[in-house]
Amino acid sequence: MINWESIDTVLLDMDGTLLDLHFDNHFWLTHVPQHFADQHGLELEQAQQQLFPRYRQVEGSLDWYCVDYWSERLNLDIVQLKHELAHKIQLRPNVVEFLHYLRARGIEIRLVTNAHEKAIGLKMQHTWLSPLFDMIISSHQFGAPKEEPAFWRLFQQRYPFDPRRTLFIDDNLAVLHTAREYGVAYLLAISQPDSRQPERQVRGFPAIHSFLEIIPGYGGR
Ligand SMILES: [Mg+2]
Repeated sequence: MINWESIDTVLLDMDGTLLDLHFDNHFWLTHVPQHFADQHGLELEQAQQQLFPRYRQVEGSLDWYCVDYWSERLNLDIVQLKHELAHKIQLRPNVVEFLHYLRARGIEIRLVTNAHEKAIGLKMQHTWLSPLFDMIISSHQFGAPKEEPAFWRLFQQRYPFDPRRTLFIDDNLAVLHTAREYGVAYLLAISQPDSRQPERQVRGFPAIHSFLEIIPGYGGR
């Protein structure tokens, strides 16, 4: 499936790719609404009805991914609430084996996420993954999310890589489309970003469930 001879750099998304999206879904769909409900004397469903349209308004923008934005808008300490739920942070299947495989091949490994630095810090603290990356990049440092072409231009200017010899894995299809338009040659989606949700049918990109599928010798294709 992947010809590793033609790849120098692997760019990896964090939430829903390396980490189970269940944490984030539970956080935004239940944990935050529950605290919002408590604060305003609402039922959980009422809080969800108020919050979900507000989420959708900024979906895909940098604000959506910004803990400071939501702390201010909702008057809740989002970082503190994330810490309360940190026991739910889990790796997706076979992430560590995959990172060791890439390292053994001498491939440069970059974590490239829309998550805010504070959220990255929490997730690294609970997964011990950070020593396995050559670079950890938040799109917040470029002022544009991965959904926008500007991110890719600025990211490559600052930290050069050859898109023709790069593999990018992300569970967000809008992000994969932007990366494709920018010229990233090898793109993979994730078929089950949230372990509590069914596998989805991904259109337009090849998708994997476990990283073992792309490690030769592990029954990889
Ligand atoms: Mg993701």
